[in-house]
Amino acid sequence: MALGLYEWGLTQSYKDLPAAFYTDLTPQPVRAPVLTVLNAPLALSLRLDPAALATSNNLNLLAGNLFPASGSAIAQAYAGHQFGHFTQLGDGRALLLGELQTPDGQLVDIQLKGSGPTPYARRGDGRAALAPMLREYLISEAMHGLGIPTTRSLAVVATGEPVYRETAQPGAILTRIAASHIRVGTFEFAATQGILELKALADYAIDRHYPQARSEANPYLAFLKAVIDRQAALIARWMQVGFVHGVMNTDNMSVAGETIDYGPCAFMDRYDPATVFSSIDRQGRYAYGNQPRIAQWNLSRLAEALLPILNEDEAAALQLAQSAIGGYPGLYQSYWHTALCHKVGISNPDRNAVRLAGELLEIMWEAQGDFTGTFWQLTTGSLTDERYADWYSRWQAMIDTQPGGLEQARQLMQQANPVIIPRNRLVQEALDAAEQKGSFTRFEQLVAALQNPYDPALAKSIYAQIPDASAKPYVTYC
Ligand code: AMP
Ligand code: MG
Ligand code: MG
Repeated sequence: MALGLYEWGLTQSYKDLPAAFYTDLTPQPVRAPVLTVLNAPLALSLRLDPAALATSNNLNLLAGNLFPASGSAIAQAYAGHQFGHFTQLGDGRALLLGELQTPDGQLVDIQLKGSGPTPYARRGDGRAALAPMLREYLISEAMHGLGIPTTRSLAVVATGEPVYRETAQPGAILTRIAASHIRVGTFEFAATQGILELKALADYAIDRHYPQARSEANPYLAFLKAVIDRQAALIARWMQVGFVHGVMNTDNMSVAGETIDYGPCAFMDRYDPATVFSSIDRQGRYAYGNQPRIAQWNLSRLAEALLPILNEDEAAALQLAQSAIGGYPGLYQSYWHTALCHKVGISNPDRNAVRLAGELLEIMWEAQGDFTGTFWQLTTGSLTDERYADWYSRWQAMIDTQPGGLEQARQLMQQANPVIIPRNRLVQEALDAAEQKGSFTRFEQLVAALQNPYDPALAKSIYAQIPDASAKPYVTYC
């Protein structure tokens, strides 16, 4: 029988952890829930029935009005470094309904975001506005379409209640699907609790995400190295498509290696490593070009948190942690160089290839070239701008020496260079139409197009239009 989430027997394995890691919650009803967006393909891939998800019990579940018959909902405790400063945090406006088993046997978290204040809410109202929740839905699904590990979005329910930010805005709740919600900051929290708590969390994370670490001589070190590797791979994927996360605090970095917590994120138009969209990131700490370094900084906080269980001897533990972190730059570089070379159609990222690809970025920067557009022009042989002419002939010479020549290069480029990304203006227009007119057509169309962003047929669509170079800088608020 096809089921909704209400009927599904959700588990809550996180409650096997010591009590400090979570708080039990009760429902906090909202007035008039309306299902505004439902991700039918995602629902089906989880063996959920989209029609069942729209029934009254399920709608009330997605609105936080009703908890699953099978289980209990919790808010998770965590800590984190926010813009470099350590703070105790926790789900202030989210709650974990439980886990569902996917057809391939993986556990995924079902989490509501914007579902009311929790004991971790501090002074927050526990709520979320419609536009930011739609933004998370759209960008996370775009990331999935691009093939980049990410949390997913199952639904957005409008609450029928206003939330007060600078102005009154319609409220909403997002249902987020994630491999888990264990953050670097969860380990920072565990380290403040004690060695038993730390071990319990590490064992839980290993069982859930890195079971192969269990059979290593030092499972916790193997876990740290595995997280570092996945994170290096993830950041290289962001860099490959011009994604700027915007708020890479340690509480917004998942140890499962998924992109998580879509706040002021956006995609870069013109290539510039200093690109920042977030209104609150005044120093550019989380600028496009800083992301690889910030990931290393965050991973260092994870390594520090793990010190007490890496080795009984403090000096030995520190040495293990340092050597694990020391592996990050090389790992990142190898993922990024491979990705960058694929963007110019070169399969072997040797020194000459990396240098040539890097020169293209330099020219693009100087020419204020559009990142996605320029790579797509290269892919289709339509990069005719004079400023690239010298580079282009050297590139052609290199491609000619590569087995398979231009044909093979094109194939590689088509897999590495999306035709479309969620362009800021289009995202904004879709969110505005939904928020101000209650019209979700643009939103749905944009989400649909972004499911297949490498499809060459999209090159003629409005989604592929390169923004005017004189367009005002885009600013995101969270
Ligand atoms: P973020 O910047 O979205 O990663 O959130 C940082 C912390 O603030 C997390 O612990 C959130 O749960 C909490 N938070 C954000 N917005 C709210 C809100 N409106 N009410 C309560 N807590 C919030
Ligand atoms: Mg967060
Ligand atoms: Mg957030």
